[in-house]
Amino acid sequence: MKLFFSGHDEKYAVEQTMLTLFPAERPLYPEEAPGGDNELELSFTRSGTWSTATAKLRREGKTFTRQCRVKTEELNHEDPVVVTRLTRRTLQRAFYLAAIDCLGTEPPWGMLSGVRPVKLPTKAMLDGATPRQAEAELRDRYRVSPDRRRLAMDCAQASYSLKKSLQENEISLYVGIPFCPTRCAYCSFISSSGSANKLIPAYLECLLQEIDAAGEAALAAGKTIRSVYIGGGTPTTLEAPQLRRLLERINTAFRLQPGTEFTVEAGRPDTITREKLEAIREGGGTRISVNPQTMSDLVLETIGRSHRAGDIRQAYDLAKETQVGEINMDLIAGLPADTVEGFQDTLNQVIAMDPENITVHTLALKKGARLRQEEVVLPTGEEVAQMLDYAWDRLREAGYLPYYLYRQKFTSGSFENVGWCKPGTLNVYNICMMEELHTVLSLGAGGVTKTIGGGTVRRMANPKYPQEYIRDIDRVLQDKKTFFLP
Ligand code: SF4
Repeated sequence: MKLFFSGHDEKYAVEQTMLTLFPAERPLYPEEAPGGDNELELSFTRSGTWSTATAKLRREGKTFTRQCRVKTEELNHEDPVVVTRLTRRTLQRAFYLAAIDCLGTEPPWGMLSGVRPVKLPTKAMLDGATPRQAEAELRDRYRVSPDRRRLAMDCAQASYSLKKSLQENEISLYVGIPFCPTRCAYCSFISSSGSANKLIPAYLECLLQEIDAAGEAALAAGKTIRSVYIGGGTPTTLEAPQLRRLLERINTAFRLQPGTEFTVEAGRPDTITREKLEAIREGGGTRISVNPQTMSDLVLETIGRSHRAGDIRQAYDLAKETQVGEINMDLIAGLPADTVEGFQDTLNQVIAMDPENITVHTLALKKGARLRQEEVVLPTGEEVAQMLDYAWDRLREAGYLPYYLYRQKFTSGSFENVGWCKPGTLNVYNICMMEELHTVLSLGAGGVTKTIGGGTVRRMANPKYPQEYIRDIDRVLQDKKTFFLP
């Protein structure tokens, strides 16, 4: 879409709105004058009492014009951040209104374009708003649909209660194992597979050193661990003795209290064995994730997974038998070769297995995903909407509650990913990390530590890939030793 601005230069904000409303479009800034098709003219004019944003959207021979205004005195605020925010909001709203006139429909999250829709109502409530007031902001300012408001408010209540219970000195810990047996067709993570997995022994040695350094620094700073999450990749790509060493080292280095929430992703059923599950249980694991994504053999094959639905059921039964703790199962709506009926069948099979948590993702094809290069037929946005509508009703009916959610760019239909739990089984780590409730110390390749405090978020990134991580381990150790120093 061609973009023409006058009276402002809010490229990023306008592009975000464009991507939400017209996901197939990319921004163009031509030299020529406006007047063609598929273009947006967006102007901002300041005058005495009111300042006005005017959006003229031309699509398929028609022009859609909308205006929004803001009091000029509000733009005279001394804080430039406030001025920028108001200007942006007015411009985005004018564009949004013109766009929905053109599209004839509104996206489920309305004008909310960020990845953390729950942050807004949670913050409002922490600042003293009632749930009703927090929800009204989602409705009136951001035009969020009733069902998405319900989802967001349920998650905000969970996030608010958790924030109230967190102690000042508590942090969470993430440990990354970026290795998988093979690569899924939709994957965009920095995960190695195949011959690159020869790096695992060297990687593990470095990781154990980083755990020691970070543990020592955390203890010296008086930090205690509220939740641990070993993610990836697929951590159960490690052999059972390797997993044992890893979990033991985490327990010792951070002096974990018995019963500390401790998740290990065991995502791919083809990596799950009794020995590994026992290593997790004996190492203090309290929750694992077994991720079918789909229970359709045809869809599993299409996304490049070598296991079948029967293997998922076997892995689940084994996890129950070994009493490894709570189980989460991840599903994806919108996978290639899937249908609305197919997705409904998957969900019903998973609900029948009765895991404590079910996380429903919407397919997001980011850069690096093989599927982006392939000519595959994906379910339409409308079909994905039907899958999700069904899921939200069915999960509530089966006794699950939404407790955390986030959005990603490039998701089918601009939807969301939602974690559901049976009462009393929400995952503290997921909420703390997603809502940035407290510091999350991240170890391993690709780990990004986020320090939360004083209303700010400070980031510290480890090298992205295992090879770089191993090469730069001295720098990583030094960072961790000094991390909690003032
Ligand atoms: S299991 Fe997850 S991290 Fe591994 S290849 Fe598949 S999508 Fe990527």
